[in-house]
Amino acid sequence: MSNYRPETICVQGGYTPGSGEPRQIPIIQSTTFKYATSEEMGKLFDLESSGYFYSRLQNPTCDYVAAKIAALEGGAAAMLTSSGQAANFFALFNLASCGDHIVSSSSIYGGTFNLISVTMARMGVEATFVSPDCTAEELEAAFRPNTKAVFGETIANPALTVLDIEKFAAAAHAHGVPLIVDNTFATPVGCRPFDWGADIVTHSTTKYMDGHGTAVGGAIVDSGRFDWMAHADKFPGLCTPDESYHGITYAEKFGREGAFITKCTAQLMRDLGCTPSPQSAFYLNLGLESLHVRMQRHCENGQAVAEFLAAHPKVASVSYCGLPGDKYHALAKKYLPRGSCGVVSFELKGGREAAGIFMRHLKLAAIETHVADARTCCLNPASSTHRQMTDEQLAAAGVPAGLIRISCGLESGEDLIDDIRQALEAVN
Ligand SMILES: *Cc1c(COP(=O)(O)O)cnc(C)c1O
Repeated sequence: MSNYRPETICVQGGYTPGSGEPRQIPIIQSTTFKYATSEEMGKLFDLESSGYFYSRLQNPTCDYVAAKIAALEGGAAAMLTSSGQAANFFALFNLASCGDHIVSSSSIYGGTFNLISVTMARMGVEATFVSPDCTAEELEAAFRPNTKAVFGETIANPALTVLDIEKFAAAAHAHGVPLIVDNTFATPVGCRPFDWGADIVTHSTTKYMDGHGTAVGGAIVDSGRFDWMAHADKFPGLCTPDESYHGITYAEKFGREGAFITKCTAQLMRDLGCTPSPQSAFYLNLGLESLHVRMQRHCENGQAVAEFLAAHPKVASVSYCGLPGDKYHALAKKYLPRGSCGVVSFELKGGREAAGIFMRHLKLAAIETHVADARTCCLNPASSTHRQMTDEQLAAAGVPAGLIRISCGLESGEDLIDDIRQALEAVN
């Protein structure tokens, strides 16, 4: 399947029914699987043969969808998780544990920033944050002998910065560690980070992949290219025997293609259980079937709305990498030639008050803490997610009080612009 173009993989990847089998992926709503002999089952527990035994670890429906996402990203193996948060936590914790260190772009999703800077810090994993715009020297200075991974987002939520994947991959590889890229906003339709040197990709499938506000979920994809054994001293979890699995050494037994995802499933999913439901995986697959068609419209609407806003006298500034004047336009042309996403940030000249009036007058864009939905939605961080901050603090954090984030859905772009125009008329 991975030989086909993304459009074809979106529709048909991951599951190929045999004669007389269901055309759509079956929902295997079963916690457990039966075996004829305990010897057969024992082999599964020893990872001697592959098969299903308990849905906390693996389930066929979830695996069909994971295989589709692996093919879309051009990866070797993938797994679904119950949320994007779980995907990022597992991807990082599969490599770094107490006493280790990670380097991360500072321009990332707030939940991931909290995960790394607070929760993983409590677990003894330290982090250094660097600006995505840092120089090679600044990036170099962030590494320590105990650094185990580098992390960033292709298009950051909510700052909409674009990651220079090649720059981050080169630095990671120079230090013998993999680059993990959260590809949620770009989706593999817009960018395949593995083509630029990333080693592991994560997703909050809750966003564009699902695309209909239906199911929270996540995914981890391994490129299968990172040579763990060449850096065995850094990755004992992959390169020395796992006593909780009868002394299996993942990198030896499963090779570059299988080690990362097998360890992540066999250890982290087994012990932490952030398991997706087969029903949610089925919804996710429905979303994926139209991802390529939807992303095109999301990008067209995002571009049209960004251009309209940029030309409007009541608008102070617009962030959208598809605009020629945008700080990230050159990186977007390189990494996102087919368009970026439907999310646009802009600031009204009238600040917080104007933002409130504007949003009250919108008829199509609902006020929500969500993005990447078929239905257009918007948010003023100063009065919602960031409301504990003063105007001065907001400005310092790069989230001015009048900033509005609008996630353009799949409606008519003309209707969206008409709606925005009439709401702007209400602002003095
Ligand atoms: C939403 C989001 C997450 C978290 O995903 P959930 O599915 O909400 O747990 C992680 N990364 C990015 C870029 C996101 O937008």
